[in-house]
Amino acid sequence: MSLEQLEKAFKGWNYRPYHALQVYAWLHRGVESFDDMTDISKQLRGELEKQYEIFNVSIVEKLTSKCDETIKYLLSLRDGALIESVLMKYHHGYTICISTQVGCKMGCVFCATGKMGFSRNLTASEMLSQIQSAQADLGIRISNVVLMGMGEPLDNYENTLIFLKLAASQKGMNIGMRHISVSTCGIIDKINDLAQRNISATLSVSLHAPNNEIRDQILPINKKFPVEELLSACRDYAQMTKRRVTYEYTMINNLNDSALCAKELANKIGGSLCHVNIIPINQIDGNNCNKSQHDQIKLFCDILLKKGISVTTRRSLGSDINASCGQLRARVKTSKILQQ
Ligand code: SAH
Ligand code: SF4
Repeated sequence: MSLEQLEKAFKGWNYRPYHALQVYAWLHRGVESFDDMTDISKQLRGELEKQYEIFNVSIVEKLTSKCDETIKYLLSLRDGALIESVLMKYHHGYTICISTQVGCKMGCVFCATGKMGFSRNLTASEMLSQIQSAQADLGIRISNVVLMGMGEPLDNYENTLIFLKLAASQKGMNIGMRHISVSTCGIIDKINDLAQRNISATLSVSLHAPNNEIRDQILPINKKFPVEELLSACRDYAQMTKRRVTYEYTMINNLNDSALCAKELANKIGGSLCHVNIIPINQIDGNNCNKSQHDQIKLFCDILLKKGISVTTRRSLGSDINASCGQLRARVKTSKILQQ
């Protein structure tokens, strides 16, 4: 609920707006029960207890990387569904990567979540709760959020919009919209809608290929939303919001990592407000997507840089703890099946 919705509900019970604000602040601090709201009257707590429930995520497993301080959480939801979130420490603060769905419908061939299929959407509060549980677990404040965990946020669009507003709300968690990134495999109608709303979250687009011939092989969604239309929607997004779009590009050996691919990509995105983030692939079983050679990645980046395109290569954090999208849940599920 937004603060306005909460105030409306409280009015119906003859409580004042400031009572709603008190409860809202408690909820966004991540309390587990109405009884924890210690400065609220017993009567109001009883009323809330009758009408509502607080559903927080609970930590099932927590893995801390020995290579860096990355932490991977396996979390369970109220119906027992399992999701993941990953906490990363950077010099500028903590970033959390949260899930938006249980599984995913999009079926990208290199992705462990895609292989699971789809179970259900997360609610906005289940997304917020991932942030709150990590903050409470470590006693820290998280400054940046990326919607890059399990699921496709723009396939759970309504809840993602509610989440964005709640996470950025000043009286709630107050995470600046500019500190939130939404990552999508490229659902064009929703990208267009997001641009219209002028929400200043960062848009990351999982491009992974410069043309339809290659992208069709790894992202089934490309058949519906092909590269040219996707790039055009991204250009419009950047123009309308004045914010640069990040193109995620996972390097796959002998598929999308040639000098020719780099040149084609540079020709297609050059001159627009954008940034390319190169991701070394995390290999999973059941496909032929292997890591590109280090020299190949360097050559690819150099070609983009020479064409004036801003490029970074993502560090592979938490590689010893199955930190990549969907890998831990996939591993836990597999080992449970093996134990049975
Ligand atoms: N569904 C959204 C967000 C979740 S996936 C999306 O696809 O953008 C987050 C990012 O992880 C995407 O860029 C995705 O392509 C990438 N990814 C998924 N599996 C990966 C793997 N095995 N190795 C490297 N990147 C991967
Ligand atoms: Fe879904 Fe993103 Fe994985 Fe594709 S990469 S299957 S869109 S979570």
